[in-house]
Amino acid sequence: MNPPDHLGARQLEIDALMRELWELGIHDERVRTAMATVPRDRFVPEELSALAWTNEAVPIGLNQTISQPYVVALMTEALALTGTERVLEIGTGSGYQTAILAALAAGVTSVERHPQLAFAAKRRLGDLGYRNVNVHVGDGSNGYPPDAPYDRIIVTAAAPRLPEPLQAQLSAENGRMVIPIGEPQDQRLVMIERRGDRLIEHPLGRVRFVPLIGRAGWRTSRPDAEPGPRGPGQNDAPSG
Ligand code: SAH
Repeated sequence: MNPPDHLGARQLEIDALMRELWELGIHDERVRTAMATVPRDRFVPEELSALAWTNEAVPIGLNQTISQPYVVALMTEALALTGTERVLEIGTGSGYQTAILAALAAGVTSVERHPQLAFAAKRRLGDLGYRNVNVHVGDGSNGYPPDAPYDRIIVTAAAPRLPEPLQAQLSAENGRMVIPIGEPQDQRLVMIERRGDRLIEHPLGRVRFVPLIGRAGWRTSRPDAEPGPRGPGQNDAPSG
């Protein structure tokens, strides 16, 4: 296939995905522009690039996944980014969600516990020209105190409960956090607004993310006893 045809085919895939996201309720224009322009094909493993512009979660190695575009868009919409916010992301993974946030906010601090994933994401984001991102290796269930407080916090791994350090590092003035909370195989995605000491919770639906492993998350990498790899199609819940 020659390059122009190939680009034409890619654009058709992008258009189809954007229509699907519209039908699923993703209508925010800024979020839609970011979803249509951040090159997801650069974040999925090359051998799975055929899945880059489908609404599927894709394995990225080390038992982790790059989230489903619908879930990325849903979480990003719930953050209501206007361009001025300082964002903390927990679970850099491939760096795809990081790039979407970087396109829509003032700056992103992202924490990933797997050094290999963090370094790969950092290089990829640098190559793509994102300058307002800092990726750190560590246990993000503790947040990242040096840059706190954050206007927005997004957690892209599932926590058993709201991690206290994240709550403490969320701005008391209209801070917003999006996080999946629940059991290893099934979580509630919630948006939490902080007004002073008050937390207001808004449900966003059921999802299935890989576990947040850490001091204020799950203590083990196998919180569930269920064997076998995770993957798209195993469960009807949208996958993170
Ligand atoms: N948002 C990512 C996908 C995240 S998958 C993307 O767009 O590609 C969840 C990620 O959370 C994995 O990379 C996993 O290693 C990471 N993770 C799990 N527990 C963590 C913790 N305590 N601190 C930081 N990262 C964690």
